[in-house]
Amino acid sequence: MDLNQTAGLVCAHHHLYSALARGMPAPGRTPTTFDEILELIWWRLDRALDLDIIEWSAKLGALEALESGCTAIIDHHESPNAIEGSLSVIADACAEVGVRVSCAYGVSDRHGEAGAIAGLEENARYLREGGRGMVGLHAAFTCSDDTIAAAAELATAHDVGVHVHVAEGEADNWERLLGHTTESWLLIHGVHLPDGHSLSGTIVHNPRSNMNNAVGYARPVRFANPVALGTDGIGADMIAEFQLAYARGRESSLTSSPDDAWNWLHEGWQLFPEAQTDVVTWDYPAMEPSHIAFSPGIAPREVRVEGEFVLAAGQPTRVDPDEIRAKAAEAAMRLFKKIEEP
Ligand SMILES: [Zn+2]
Repeated sequence: MDLNQTAGLVCAHHHLYSALARGMPAPGRTPTTFDEILELIWWRLDRALDLDIIEWSAKLGALEALESGCTAIIDHHESPNAIEGSLSVIADACAEVGVRVSCAYGVSDRHGEAGAIAGLEENARYLREGGRGMVGLHAAFTCSDDTIAAAAELATAHDVGVHVHVAEGEADNWERLLGHTTESWLLIHGVHLPDGHSLSGTIVHNPRSNMNNAVGYARPVRFANPVALGTDGIGADMIAEFQLAYARGRESSLTSSPDDAWNWLHEGWQLFPEAQTDVVTWDYPAMEPSHIAFSPGIAPREVRVEGEFVLAAGQPTRVDPDEIRAKAAEAAMRLFKKIEEP
């Protein structure tokens, strides 16, 4: 590979359903805690999702990933009023754009036992039908012990891991995952995990999201677990996330190096090995950590996935980006109206 090339970048934690959330109507009052951010923003948004809105949100998110040189997305989805079929809608949207995706439905008891069962069934249906994915769990603090056990069991039966938020806020009782985790699990955030926690799996660091929600700094260098990088739904520009991961690490300690953050970006290829066969040609001559940590505006010129140019001369080849942006804007207007319905 030439110095201006990399493999396809991997976003190890995304929420494609949140691509239309930008500009959404502000809640009646300003959230002042992480719990309120969930209740007043994200849980208000996800209740309003239907399959059509999910489709355009996923297409826009996949398009933005491709335009950022990210060819593989590990997605975590929740749409409590449109569960059945939702993972296939997301997988199809990504396939249309030409981006790889691993899907999971974030099971939760926050809408009762029936909601948890429907979420488990959507993961099971999608994996049974041969979809690439994991079993999703929202987080221990919104799941019963039975739901956690059922998700772990389902994942084992399909030989995949569980994709779960862990210790993002202080209140998460993550200890309830002990005894269930394996090396295939994806543990998202880990901000409030103690150094000596004994959970197995890869920890996914999402610096921009953590700063935006003021939940604290995970300081990932302290973990014995492998660490990968995600965006937690704020786009899929992994070069930008790498730059922020580096800057946040430096704020914490001057011993942090661009190589630390680069290693986290690399870890994505352990999670999504197929992306290593993708080739991204950048408009920057030296795709090395000590260069790109300090270079603004790096963009891909060409992206090849399985030998096919899905981006050429900076433009997607399979889809019309203007059409996706226009349809996504229409879907966003419909979503915003639904959010404001009493
Ligand atoms: Zn998340």
